[in-house]
This record gives sequence, C-alpha cells and structure tokens, in this order.
Amino acid sequence: MATKKRSSFFADVNRSFNRAARHLDFPKGLLEQVRACNAVYHMQFPVRMPGGKYEVINAWRVEHSQHRSPTKGGIRYSHMVNQDEVMALAALMTYKCAIVDVPFGGAKGGIKISTPKYSVEQLESITRRYTAELVKKNFIGPGVDVPAPDYGTGEREMSWIMDTYSAFHPGRIDNQACVTGKPVSQGGIRGRREATGLGVYFGTREVLNDKHLMAQVGLSPGVDGKTLVVQGLGNVGYFATKFLTEAGCKLVGVAEREGSIACETGMHLEDIMAHRAETGSILGFPGSKSSENPSDALELECDVLVPAALERQITQDNVTRIKAKVIAEGANGPTSANAEDILHEQGSLVIPDLFLNSGGVTVSYFEWLKNLSHVRFGRMDRRLQESRGAHIVDSIEELTGGKVSAARRSGIIHGPDEHDLVRSGLEDTMVEAYNTIVERALSNPEIKSLRTAAFCVSLEKVASSYLELGVFP
Ligand code: NAD
Repeated sequence: MATKKRSSFFADVNRSFNRAARHLDFPKGLLEQVRACNAVYHMQFPVRMPGGKYEVINAWRVEHSQHRSPTKGGIRYSHMVNQDEVMALAALMTYKCAIVDVPFGGAKGGIKISTPKYSVEQLESITRRYTAELVKKNFIGPGVDVPAPDYGTGEREMSWIMDTYSAFHPGRIDNQACVTGKPVSQGGIRGRREATGLGVYFGTREVLNDKHLMAQVGLSPGVDGKTLVVQGLGNVGYFATKFLTEAGCKLVGVAEREGSIACETGMHLEDIMAHRAETGSILGFPGSKSSENPSDALELECDVLVPAALERQITQDNVTRIKAKVIAEGANGPTSANAEDILHEQGSLVIPDLFLNSGGVTVSYFEWLKNLSHVRFGRMDRRLQESRGAHIVDSIEELTGGKVSAARRSGIIHGPDEHDLVRSGLEDTMVEAYNTIVERALSNPEIKSLRTAAFCVSLEKVASSYLELGVFP
C-alpha cells in the first residue's frame, strides 16, 4: 500500500506568512529575505551503543533570521525530527519573538533520537557532542545563538549544554547566558519551568473573556466552567492544564502517547498524573472511558482544545470531526493551514501558536537578562518596597485609628521577589501582545483569522528592522 506523503511543515508556515504579506506594503525582495532561513547546519556524529557498536546521529541547528542577535530557539529530541521541521520551527521563533517584543532572531535545533532508547550517560554524551559541534561552527553563544528546551528536552540537557560551552570558553563571565531553561542552581530563573503553559493560560483567558470573539463561536464569556481537552501532558500541556483548571475549566479529556481518556463530569489533573506515575499509563484512570487511540480525545465535544504535543495533529484527515469551539495551540504547528480554513467554516476559533506559546521565550529572555546582569530580579528593591508598604499601612492605621487585617497587611507589604516579577512580566507581555493582535484584526475586515493578524504584526516588526539595519535602502 502506498504511504501518504506528508506535506512540508515549513511550506505550511510560509503559507500563513504569504496570507499576511498580502496585507502589507513592503518590497517583495525584503519579504523573501524575511521568509528565508539564513543558515542551516546539518551535522552527523557517532555515539557508542552497548556492545561497542556505533550509531550515526543526525542533528540540526537552523538560524532563521539574524535581524536581531542573538538568535534563540529550543532544541528537540525526537525520532521524527527532520530538517524541514527544524526550519519551520526556527521561522516560527522569529515571528514569535517579534510579537512579544523579545529582541532575538529565531532559531531551532533538533536531534533525531528516540530518547527512551538511550541511557542517561548516552543522552549526556550526545548532548555534549552536539554542543561541541555548535561551538566549532559558532552556532552557540550568549550573543550568537541561545538554545532552550523543547519537545524531549528540559533543565538537565540545558545544564549539560552550559557546562560544555563553558569548558570551551574558560573564564568568560557571560557563559551562563549561552542557554536558557537551566535549573535555578545553574543560573536559571524562577518561573521558567511553567512559563509556556502559564502563557497559554494567560492568552486563552484573554480570548475567553473577549465578548466579541465568544459571540462568534457561540460561547458565553469567561473561563469558569468551560470544558477542556488537552493533548500531551508534558511541560506545556501539564502547566496549561494546571492553570486553566485552577481558573475553573473542567478537564473532560486527555490524550497521551498511549491513548485517550474521557469523562464528562471532569477529572483532576494531579490524580491523572499520580495514576500515570503508578501504572505507566493514563489508560484505566478511574471513572474515565479509555481508548488506545491518542487522537480520539481530539474529537471530543468540548469548549477548549489544547494540542500540546506535536505539529500536524489537526489536518484535513480529522478536521471535520473536531468539535472544539476554541483551539488553543500550545504546541507549534498543531493545525495545518488547510485544516484551519475548515475549522473557521465550522465556526471554531484558533488561537495561534506564534502568540499563544510565546511565554517560554519571553521568560527565557528574562533569564538571559539575569545571566548578563549577574543579579537576581528583585534583589535590589524588594526590602525597600516592603518597608515602604509597612510605612503606608502604619500611617493608614495611625490616621484612621483603625486596624488593617493581617491578611491585607501582608498583601500590601509583600515586596516582589523574582517569581512575582517574572509572572508579572509574562502576564503583561501576553496581554499586550493579545491586544495588538486583536487591534490588527479589527483594523482590516479582510483579515479573517487571529493567525493572519498575528503574522501581520510580526512581519511588520521584522521587515521594519531589516529596513532600519539599512539592508534594504
Ligand atoms: P514535552 O516533551 O515536555 O511533552 C510532550 C508530551 O506530548 C509528552 O508528554 C509526550 O508523551 C506527549 N505526546 C507525544 N506524542 C503524543 C501523541 N501522539 N498524543 C498525545 N500526546 C503525545 O514537550 P513540550 O516542551 O511540552 O513541547 C510540546 C509542544 O510545545 C511542542 O510542539 C513544542 O515545540 C511546543 N513548545 C514548547 C515550549 C517549551 O517551553 N517547552 C515552548 C513553546 C512551544
């Protein structure tokens, strides 16, 4: 039987780009430069397997746009990763950074491995070798290109990368800024771990509270009581679910690698996590209906669907069976361009990845700033703010003769620590970006989707900075 050829992910990103470009007034050559990937580095290196055999590993780093330096983007470990995917993800990083006003160009990395197949020692040697290859070709550095976690990687891999980079650059004071998403003890920042999922929550909350958009999809405004289905309980999916359910959403479906579970009356996230830790699977979760097909959950009746696993999950093959009113793209590229058109015809709304999952790179930016400034956020003024707050409360009590309650007093005098400041910076960034995108959509009736509006906002910023650089006089 002939296998169906998968269309190019990079071509799909460019299709969204082209739709937005029609609404912009920039020279064609300039937009072609913005769309192109500036540098693609494909490397191959060996890893020794048990028994002494060697295996050749394929890996990539793509720097999509150097209109800002450094470039920035995660590294994914997956047996499905390929050059087209890394190029698409690098391009999305450029557009994402522009939307949230993070002064980086876009990049992405990928290593083609199935992580469960390798021991921790082998993963460490693959990560260190990959980093050494990046160093050799000047594809990494605090002012050059700064990786971060993505699918299949986390704090542990980022630590190995920083340590390897530092070994090649002894004595350089800014080495920690060569990678973000590190553990706090290694120069990471409080709040990075949950940043992408928290950003997904802030962005989804803004959409659900928007009366105009909710009227379009036939929902009442507000987060409380909305039914939720999530695909993938990794970094992004877990935290997005945590914050959405804490705000009142009812979790009615979950998909993971091993299958799907559904329960109309709602499920508790932590109970599902505990069940999976104990049994190795979400299947058989008490009170739920299980299916061994992970994509079944995507087709459940719900208000909000958060795909937070991989790209191309909603395609022409299954789109007519998708019933969610709002598709909140936690993952990169989960909806193909053709499927999105059909979703709109079906009356659903897509909150696009390049806006919705930008919380990770936003907080990575804060981490990079922290590493370059060599001081923790809040260190200089937290105590000053606390003593000012105490002084204000004391004055109020003295002037009124009354007593401020202990809870209210501690709320007023609490000086912001690093975690508070990161959360505040992230919320402000997501709300500002959302308002800009909606304003752009409302300014032109021909802009039919939030994705096209988001691309317009982003391309304007990237193309303008090329003009400012004098590259296109
Ligand atoms: P992760 O590796 O932490 O989690 C991915 C989860 O998806 C895993 O639990 C995995 O078991 C599950 N999964 C795999 N195949 C599945 C399937 N067919 N059905 C259901 N679940 C499946 O990865 P992550 O960092 O959470 O990234 C997820 C997505 O979010 C990716 O598209 C990534 O590019 C994007 N993203 C991540 C970040 C970040 O900060 N980590 C930032 C922006 C975007």
